[in-house]
Formats: sequence, C-alpha cells, structure tokens
Amino acid sequence: MSTRGRVPAIGIDLGTTYSCVAVWQHNRIEIIANDQGNRITPSYVAFNDTERLVGDAAKNQAAFNPTNTIFDVKRLIGRKASDQIVQEDMKLWPFKVVAGSGDKPKIVVKYKNEDKEFAAEEISSMVLAKMKGIAETFLGSKVEKAVITVPAYFSDSQRQSTKDAAMVAGLEVLRMINEPTAAAIAYALDKRAGVDGKMNVLVFDLGGGTFDVSVLSIDDEGVIEVKATCGDTHLGGEDFDNKMVKFFVNEFKRKHKEDISNNTKALGRLRVQCERAKRVISTAYQTTIDIDCLFSGIDFSATFTRAKFEEVNMEFFKKCMDTVETCLSDVNISKKSIDEVVLVGGSTRIPKIQELLQELFNGKTLCQRINPDEAVAYGAGILAAKLSGMGDDAVQSLELIDVTPLSLGVECENDVMSVLIPRNSPIPTKKEKTFFNCVDNQSVIDISVYQGERSKCTENFFLSNFLLSGLPLAPRGVVKIIVSFEIDANGILHVSAREITRGINNAIKITNTGILTKAEIEKMIEDAERFKWEDEEYMKKVEAHKTLTDYVYKAKTKIKNYNFRMKLRKTGLSVKDLEDIDHQIEEAIEWLDEHPNAEVDDLKDKEEELNEICRLTKMKLAFRD
Ligand code: AMP
Repeated sequence: MSTRGRVPAIGIDLGTTYSCVAVWQHNRIEIIANDQGNRITPSYVAFNDTERLVGDAAKNQAAFNPTNTIFDVKRLIGRKASDQIVQEDMKLWPFKVVAGSGDKPKIVVKYKNEDKEFAAEEISSMVLAKMKGIAETFLGSKVEKAVITVPAYFSDSQRQSTKDAAMVAGLEVLRMINEPTAAAIAYALDKRAGVDGKMNVLVFDLGGGTFDVSVLSIDDEGVIEVKATCGDTHLGGEDFDNKMVKFFVNEFKRKHKEDISNNTKALGRLRVQCERAKRVISTAYQTTIDIDCLFSGIDFSATFTRAKFEEVNMEFFKKCMDTVETCLSDVNISKKSIDEVVLVGGSTRIPKIQELLQELFNGKTLCQRINPDEAVAYGAGILAAKLSGMGDDAVQSLELIDVTPLSLGVECENDVMSVLIPRNSPIPTKKEKTFFNCVDNQSVIDISVYQGERSKCTENFFLSNFLLSGLPLAPRGVVKIIVSFEIDANGILHVSAREITRGINNAIKITNTGILTKAEIEKMIEDAERFKWEDEEYMKKVEAHKTLTDYVYKAKTKIKNYNFRMKLRKTGLSVKDLEDIDHQIEEAIEWLDEHPNAEVDDLKDKEEELNEICRLTKMKLAFRD
C-alpha cells in the first residue's frame, strides 16, 4: 500500500523509566533513535535555573539536581495523592509531591528560581511531546496521530489521564492499547509465516514500574485474541532498585553510624549507582558500588552480589510467578498448552526471573527473539500503520480482540459492588443491568461507578459518580433504572442511566472519568505551548552564545598568529592598535563567561562592538573567514 502523501501515525511506548517511538516506513517498522542516537529515551523531565530538559539530558543531570528531576510519573498518573501507593513512593522520590485540589498529586519543582507545580499528566505530556519531536525530526514532517500503549492493568482513570497527557502534547490518540497486546502484535508479525493454525502465547512484560501478564491466541489469519490479562501497575525494576537503596542505607548506617534516609541528594546518587549495579549483575556475579562523599564527607564503597540482589527481591519475583499462575487459571489454560512464552520489558533480563519462569513452564525455552525494550513500541507502530491505512497486507489483515483487565460495576445497598462487565471481557463491549429504587419515594439516585475485584465497593477503585434525578415517586422496588456500561476500543468506559417506568429518558453519560477537568486540560495545552516557546527561545540564546563564542575564539587564534600580526602592521596598524584588539577580545571572552544566559539582543550588541573594532581596523573579513 502506498504511503505517499499521507502523514504517518506513530506508535509510542510511554514507559515508566524509558519511552520508545516507532513508525512504519519503507515497508517495515523503524524504531526511531533520538538526538543522542539512542533507540529508547528516558522518561525524565528536569528543571533548572535556565531551562527545561527532557529525556537523556534530564536523566544525565539527575544526580546533581535530584529535587528538580522528575521520573516515575507513570506511577503517579491517574492516582490520588492520598493513595497508599503514592504515599509509599513519595518517601523514596527525591522530588516533592503535594496534594493539590481534589486530592490530585502535584509535583513541586524550582524552575527559573520560582516554585512551580505540575500535574503528572503535564510531565507525561512533556515526554510524549519529546517522542513526537523525535519522530518529526526523523520523518521531516509534522506528526499528529499516535497509538499509545498503557499497562494492561491500568485503571480507567489511569488510561484517561494518559489520553489527556497526549492531548496536551498535541497528539490525537488513534488507539490506546495494552502493552502486552502491542508486544503480541510485534511477535505475531515477526512470526507471521510460522503460525500454523492457532497458537497460545503468554506475554510476560516486566518493565521499570509495571508488570503485566497476558495470555493470547494468534492464528494464521492474523487474528490476535487476548484471552486474559493480569498484573500489577506498581511492580517493576524501580522496586528492585528501591530494595537495593534500602539495603545500602542500612549498610551505611551499620558501617558509618550515619542515617542518609532523609538526604534526597545522597539517596538520588545512591539510586543511580544501584540501577547501574543491578544491570551489571544480570551478566556478572558481583559488582561494586563506589560513591565519593556520599554523606558528611564519607566515601561509600560496597560489594553487591547477584545472590544478595535475588535475596532482597525474592518476594517480588515470587509475586510475578504467582501472577502468571493466576492468569493461566483465569483463562483455564494449562501450562502445557502455552506454545510460546515471550519476554518483554527491560527487567526480564534479570537471570532469576528467567530461571523461575522457565522452571514454571517445565524448562521451556523462553522467547527472546524480539528486543524486550522495543517490542511494545514496535507493536504500537504496526497498529498505528494499520489504523492510518499504511503498512503491507500482513499489517492490514491484523485483527485485535482485547479484554478489559478489571471488573466494572456500580454501588448497591450495603456497599455491595454489582458487576456489569466482569474482568477479561472482550472489548469493545456494552452491557446493561436493571436496578430498582431502594427506598420509598426516592426522587434521586446516585450512580457510583467502581473498578476492581472485591465484593465491597469501598475496597475497589472509585471511578466517578453522577445523579439521576426526577424519578417518579413510588414505593421501594418499583422504579426501574437501566444502567449501561460501554467500553470503547481504547479501554475507556462510558456510563449512562435511564429510568423507564414512565418513559422518562433521562440519560447521563460519563465521558470523562479522568481526574482532569476540561478547563485544566486547556490550561495545560496553553502551558505546554508556552514551554515549547520558552525552550525554543532558550535554544536561540544558546545558539547565539555559541556563535559569538566561536567567533571570538577564532578571532583570538587569528590575532595571536605572528604572520597575521605582521600583515596587519603592514596595513598601518600600530602595536598599540593590536594590543587594543587583544584587550577587546579578552574582554569579550570574559563577558561571555560571565553571561552564560545573555539575551540574544545583548549578544548581538556585543558582536556589533567587536565588529566595530574590526571595521575600524579593517579586520572584519579577516576574522570571519
Ligand atoms: P522498560 O520499562 O521495559 O524500559 O524497562 C526498564 C527497566 O528495566 C528499568 O528498571 C531497568 O533498570 C531495567 N533493566 C534494563 N536492563 C536491565 C538489565 N540488564 N538487568 C536488569 N534490569 C534491567
């Protein structure tokens, strides 16, 4: 199929620790490298006195600017500040999170010497905008549409918040798909010629912050059907790093009688070294951690073994294996019937994880044919191509049947959760259920929507509520109310309710179960545009500073050259004239050093001053060549 004249849509894997972008080009999927040449980009955003940094630039300065370097927002998105999980994470993050209005978490940073607050959606939108920019640079054209992946186990509000973040980044979301499903698409396309009939695949996706297991079937017609999905939106490499950090905080206390647990800078530096060490021991058996002046002038040095790493994290590893068992029993498929176990996510490189998984499947060889860091973006890129009418026949023939990861229902009397859509139901789907008024003469009914597997609503995740008013006055159990739940292809829920006894059609539909209001999204879009403008202005300053610096140093080198000085002397310049020029150049260098953030106009004035002396001494062209 021709792609000429069409604006390509991209696939983005918005990860907890890294993000990755892919596009269909020249009849295949291209994983796009960023400006540093890296195929994955850290999901980091940093702020300092002068600028905002996103990606590698932000991660690279994390150890020096820990309180203003934001990461892990995927753990925050769509959650309330008072959420137990958020409260636990806050103890370990070097940056500050406070409860904003409506209990929304807000990240507080110092930017250009002022305190600024950002919602998780805003930080995510900055990462998404970076990925969009990477694709635009590669393609040489604007990109407006994307398929974005989310953990299968993301709740409705986490999905909605991610969609909001995309909107703020200027991206229309063609489809939001579950990460393991995207990985399965990548696997299915890779395997296309090899599928004979139908095969069952288990995708084990353990990334930086989330864990998903999905069981899918793939057939030779290109139909990918998700049978079941289980997981934990809060389990991954970051938790393993945290365990290591805790271990070394105790080691430091034991060895040096000092407590570093409240020092964000020391914790930030320790965390960076722990993550590095963790990767090393995936191939080596031990490594060392060396940090100069970690705390109170004390250097810290310690050995860390693979065995110790496994010991401190075994509880998490076991949890992962238990989830695999649950997923298989949910779908009622035996381990023997799984034809392939596909590994996705950076944390699947941990040898113990591979060992336990292989043991669980009676020694089966695990599939590592697709790069675990890129599989999700790869699959998202394929779906983006399909949805935008690009791609070859194999791409176009792909059919996707996904499921909803958590049960959805409404609150009934005595805190009971009445489920309308059970978990692992294929989506899109629509379900209706009839309810009755529970007290005599009830004119208003509150429809409260929950997500989760517990029988009590208070133990599930509250999504939203609305009132259906103007009900006919009648005794208990007479007025019929039909509640309708609809999940669209993005996994987002729409709820409506109507009263029918007297034909009153008073339907209300929740279209935005997210945590942000429309006005807030609009404000964020404005802010994002302002940030983009500020970044561009800053880059103009940096460019102008660099150009002038190059100019001055070139001039300095030239004027220091003996033959050139002699040439100038012959044109009539005195020794004093030359010394003046030397002096002016030195002064300009000093000025540039002292004004690293000079405004473009001031830099132009400075250049003009230099040009002036050059002109006086007929030197301009000599400097510029
Ligand atoms: P992802 O979210 O899939 O990009 O995975 C990122 C996570 O994988 C981070 O927590 C990394 O520290 C972790 N990771 C990447 N490579 C390795 C490795 N070789 N050994 C252990 N963990 C790794």
